[in-house]
Amino acid sequence: MKIICVGMNYADHVSEFRSPKPTKPVIFMKPDTALLRSNLPFYHPDFSEEIHYECELILRICKEGKYIDQKFAHKYYDQIGLGLDFTARDLQSQFKSKGLPWELAKAFDQSAVVSSFFPKDDFPNVQNLNFSLFQNGVMKQKGNTSEMIFGVDEILSFASRFFTLKTGDIIFTGTPKGVDKIKIGDKLEAYLEDKKVLECEVK
Ligand code: MG
Repeated sequence: MKIICVGMNYADHVSEFRSPKPTKPVIFMKPDTALLRSNLPFYHPDFSEEIHYECELILRICKEGKYIDQKFAHKYYDQIGLGLDFTARDLQSQFKSKGLPWELAKAFDQSAVVSSFFPKDDFPNVQNLNFSLFQNGVMKQKGNTSEMIFGVDEILSFASRFFTLKTGDIIFTGTPKGVDKIKIGDKLEAYLEDKKVLECEVK
């Protein structure tokens, strides 16, 4: 399986980095070795002094597809959840300034924390879901999926022009503002609507 991620997909997060608003989805990928299930600890790597959390709605692909029309995109994912897109911000800033690829900053082991998945049909509208992230009991991120610059169906359709989507692939759909550094001992908890769906301790 593969993990496809969208960067800079919430206007308030784009502003926090003073980046220009993207005109097309900004896509990057993580390998399957980046996966970390909720409730398992994240071991802070030694190559970064500034790992940031990014809480995001995630989708699970349920059938193979390529060149998916946006209006049929909803048939290609059946489950949703929340994820943390851990990012080595210090490395990413260096790479960005030199125009180099981001992989080392984004795709390292354990950099994709995923919650359990829930049937999308349990929710009236995937494009109107509240979610939030708490760091040591303090709310740090709060978003609604209606604030995405590129909606779920558009992301899926766009990505499928480049990569065949396969069952079990996971899509990270971008993070709202409030990203910040983690440190050893932190406890991160994410809520989808009022339900805690993800927990991760930093060790
Ligand atoms: Mg992200």
